[in-house]
Amino acid sequence: MSRTVADYNVIAATKHVIGNGNGKSKSTTAMDIESIFGENTFGLAEMKSRLPKSVFKSILATIEKGATLDPTIADTVALAMKEWAVERGASHFTHWFQPLTGFTAEKHDSFITPNEGGGAIAQFSGKELIQGEPDASSFPSGGVRATFEARGYTAWDPTSPAFIVENKNGSYLAIPTAFASWGGEALDHKTPLLRSMQTLNSAAMRVLGLFGVKDAHKVFSTVGVEQEYFLIDEEYYFRRPDLVTTGRTLFGAKPPRGQELDDHYFGSIPDRVLACMLETEKELYRLGVPVKTRHNEVAPGQYEIAPIFENSNVAADHQQLLMLTLERVARHHGLVCLMHEKPFAGINGSGKHNNWSMATDTGMNLLEPGDTPHDNIQFLFFCAAVIRAVHRHQDLLRISVATAGNDHRLGANEAPPAIISIFLGEQLEDVFKQLESGPATESKQGGLMGLGVKTLPNLPRHAGDRNRTSPFAFTGNKFEFRAVGSSQSVSFPNIVLNVIVAESLVEMGDLLEAELAGKKKNKAVFEQAVADVVKAVIHDSKPIIFGGDNYADAWHKEAEKRGLLNLRTTMDAYEHLLDEKNIKLFERAEVLSEVELRAREEILVEQYFIKINIEAETTEYLARTYLLPAAVKYLSQLSGVGGKGIKSVADTVEKAVDKFCKKLDKLSEQNRELGGDSVHEKARHMRDNVIPAMAEMRTAADALEALVAHDLWPLPTYREILWIK
Ligand code: ADP
Ligand code: MG
Repeated sequence: MSRTVADYNVIAATKHVIGNGNGKSKSTTAMDIESIFGENTFGLAEMKSRLPKSVFKSILATIEKGATLDPTIADTVALAMKEWAVERGASHFTHWFQPLTGFTAEKHDSFITPNEGGGAIAQFSGKELIQGEPDASSFPSGGVRATFEARGYTAWDPTSPAFIVENKNGSYLAIPTAFASWGGEALDHKTPLLRSMQTLNSAAMRVLGLFGVKDAHKVFSTVGVEQEYFLIDEEYYFRRPDLVTTGRTLFGAKPPRGQELDDHYFGSIPDRVLACMLETEKELYRLGVPVKTRHNEVAPGQYEIAPIFENSNVAADHQQLLMLTLERVARHHGLVCLMHEKPFAGINGSGKHNNWSMATDTGMNLLEPGDTPHDNIQFLFFCAAVIRAVHRHQDLLRISVATAGNDHRLGANEAPPAIISIFLGEQLEDVFKQLESGPATESKQGGLMGLGVKTLPNLPRHAGDRNRTSPFAFTGNKFEFRAVGSSQSVSFPNIVLNVIVAESLVEMGDLLEAELAGKKKNKAVFEQAVADVVKAVIHDSKPIIFGGDNYADAWHKEAEKRGLLNLRTTMDAYEHLLDEKNIKLFERAEVLSEVELRAREEILVEQYFIKINIEAETTEYLARTYLLPAAVKYLSQLSGVGGKGIKSVADTVEKAVDKFCKKLDKLSEQNRELGGDSVHEKARHMRDNVIPAMAEMRTAADALEALVAHDLWPLPTYREILWIK
C-alpha cells in the first residue's frame, strides 16, 4: 500500500501544490506558496519552536496519537499561542465553533484586560484557551437546553490548528472548539464528529489486529471535498432581493442561452474570476488549507475548488474555512460567491463531492487495493464493510444530505437521485461477483480460495471512474459521496460514514473471529475465513451495487424491485432519522445519545421549515411589490395605443397578469396557513402546499418576464447575471 505518512502531512500538501515536475524551475509564485503555507496557523512547526520540549511532546501525543490532553500544559500553550497571535497583529481571540445551524460561530474577547491603575495588560490563560462560555442561548438546541441553563460551553480542540483571521483594520485569533451544553450534550457538529472518529478508530484497529498489522497506532477517516460554487457580479446580487434573502433566485425566465453549448465547462477562466481565485487560494494557503485544483464547472458562472484530503476533523474545519474565504474574498473583486445548491433554475446546481477513506497513522490507506494477495484480502474486507454499511444505512446517508436547498438538485439529472446505491467499477464489481458465486469449500482450482486470493485478478489501481451518475462511487482508493449539498457542513455526512462503517467492521470482526475460533492458525485458514466473511457480506448487500445510469427512469423501477429506499424529499428522509435502528446505532457507537439525536432531528426539521417559509414570504413579497406593479405599468402603456398588433399584445399580457394574480392569491393563502402547531406539521405543510404554490407563482411570473418591457422589469435577468463576468 503506497501512501506514506507524508501524504497526510499538510506540509507535503504544499509540495503537491507547487510541484512543477522537474524540480528546477521554481517560479516566484511557487516560492511564495511554500513560504506562506500555514503562516496564519499555530501549527506543529510553530508549537515546536515556541514550546518547551516536554510540553511540545505532550501536545504532539494528543494531536497525533489521540492521548488525553494534559490540562497542566494549557497555560504554557496559551502563552505561546498568544505571543504568536499578537506578533501577527491579533488583538482578540475567539472560540470558533460549529452550532447546528450549519454555519460557524464566534464571539470575540480582547487579549487586553484593563487593570486598576488605568493601564491595560495583555493576558490569555490556559483556562481561556481550554474552555469558553459564550452566551449562546440563541443557537438551536432542539430542547436540550432549558433557558435557565442556557449557557453553552466551548472546549478547545487541540487537534485542529488555531488560526488568524485578518482584516485590514485588525486581526483575531480563532481557536477551533467543540460546543456542548452544561450537561455535556453536544450542541454542535464537531463533538459527534470527533466521537465518531474514535469509534471508527477502535473498530478498524481491532480488524487490523486480526490481520496481523502491528505497527499502526491509530486509524482515522480521511476526507477531501470538491466544492462547487457560483460567482456573480455583486451589482446583480444586490438588485435581487431573493438572492440576498434566500441565496437563490425565486424568479427568472430561462435565458436564450443557458448551458446548452457546454462552452463554459473546463473553459479558460475569465481574468477577474481568476484574480479572485488566486487571492482565495493564497488566503487558504496561509490558513494551512491545502487547496490543489480549480476549474470551471458545467453551468455558466460556476466553478470548483478542491483541497488535498486530511483527517476528517481537520478537513471539516477547513471546509468551513474554505467556504468563508470564498465568500469573503469574492467581495474584494466586486463579485459575490453563491454557495446555494440551486441558485438558478434550469441550470446545474452546486454540490460537494465528499471523498472518504480510512488511513492509519503509518500512512496505509485501507481502501487502496494492494500489490500482494494479502493486502488484497485486507482491502476487500474493508471495502465490503463500506458496502455493507451503505446498504444497511441508506436512510442515514440520504438524511445526511437532506436540506431544503438540496431538494432542488437530487434527482434532477444533474446530481444523483435520492436513491442511494454504490458504483464499484466493472473490475471490482466482477471480483466481488466471483467471490460471491465461488463454492464455499476450499478447493485447488476455481475454489473460493483461488478466486478470493491466489488468482484474484489484479485489482484496478486508480481506475478511471466512468460513472458520474452514481451517488456513492469507488474511485480507485476512496469512496466519493456525491450527493452532498454545496452549502452544507460536511460533518454530518462524515459522522454517518464513520459510524456506519465502524458498525460493519465490528460485526465483520465478530464474524471473522467466529470463523477462526478453534481452528489452527495459519495463512490458508485465515484467508479462507476472510473470504467466507466477505462472501457472506457481499451476498447480503448485493442490491446496493449498481453500475448503470442512475438518472434513468428504469433505475427507479429496478431500485424499487431491489427494495432500496427512495426518500424523495428532505421531509421524507427526516421522518426516518428517529427510527429505532438509528437511535440504537448512534447510541451503541457512543456518538449521539437518544436525547442528542432527538434534538438534532428537531433542529433539522425546524431549519427546513424556516428556510422554506422565508422563501415563500419573499416570493409573495417580490411578486406583489416588484413584479405585479411592473406588469401593470406595461399594461397601462399598451392600453389606448391603436393598432391590432398592439391590442393583441395587450390581451396576452392581460391574460398573463390575471393568471399571475390568481397564483399570487393562492400562495398568499398558503403562506397564511400554518399546517398545524408542531414544527413537523408546519414543515409538512411547506412540502405539500407551500412549495407547489411557490412553483406555480414562479411559472406565472417567468411567463410575464418574457412579455413585459425590459426597462420596466425590476429584476436583473438570468441573461445578465450569468453571462456578465
Ligand atoms: P478524482 O479524479 O477521483 O476526483 P482527485 O485526485 O482529483 O480524484 O481527488 C479528488 C479529491 O479526493 C481530492 O480532494 C483528493 O484530495 C481527495 N482524495 C484523494 N485520496 C483520498 C483519500 N484517500 N481519502 C480521502 N480523500 C481523498
Ligand atoms: Mg472527483
